[in-house]
Amino acid sequence: MSPTSEENHISRITWVEYDRRVSEDNPVVIVPVASTEQHGPHTPLGCDAIVGAEIADEVGRRTGALIAPQIAYGYKSQPRTGGGNHFPGNICIDAETLSCLVNDIAQSLAAHGVRKICFLSSHVENQWFLIEGVQDALAALDAAGINDMRIACMSYYEFFSPEVRDAVFGDKFISWEVEHGAVMTTSILLHRRPEVVDRDAIPEHDPVLPLPYDIYPFDPARGTQSGALSASTIASAENGKLFFDEVTGRLCEALIQEFDLRSGGPA
Ligand SMILES: [Zn+2]
Repeated sequence: MSPTSEENHISRITWVEYDRRVSEDNPVVIVPVASTEQHGPHTPLGCDAIVGAEIADEVGRRTGALIAPQIAYGYKSQPRTGGGNHFPGNICIDAETLSCLVNDIAQSLAAHGVRKICFLSSHVENQWFLIEGVQDALAALDAAGINDMRIACMSYYEFFSPEVRDAVFGDKFISWEVEHGAVMTTSILLHRRPEVVDRDAIPEHDPVLPLPYDIYPFDPARGTQSGALSASTIASAENGKLFFDEVTGRLCEALIQEFDLRSGGPA
């Protein structure tokens, strides 16, 4: 298949097409940043990566953004947000490694003429190290005389409204804090990639409510035993569609607004 102007994935087009798109369209480049991290006994270690890729695909399709290859490793899973880094299969990277990756990728894109970048995270623990990498890149680029960059850091899970929360959970909502490996990601996977969910293994245990502090060395006996922080018995493809449609719609709105896509971009 030859590359077409409808193909938004950088890895699937030639340098010639990429160069043309960058110079003619001044596109946003979305860099999905995920993890390789357990998400309970029922969804795969690539859960964050699959969900992040599905969301980036849809946002790219609707806004005309290019999509860079995903960073599929993330900062270390933490007990309160990811169950902890002791689970087999978690392959995690240091803060410095992650921020260096972000810095390098931003500088590479800038060297090609890209001026609009969105690092789109699907893993809570990445958040601050993306910012570190972006700030380092902007400082280096500014020193090199490139000072017209605009870089967004977004985390998809921060785009849910109270309306969707109420529609999915009703009066059973506990806290977003216990959503790791739970209703949200399981539902999005059931909506977009149902073949990767083992429905027979969906956890039904009580939520593992977080303490307002951390103790290290962490004792795994005090954390989740399934890997999920709460049950996902109400997970469904229908709920996944509610989550997915809202988050992709609001991400598109944010990109259009922040990167002025209606007036100057390909949207
Ligand atoms: Zn995660």
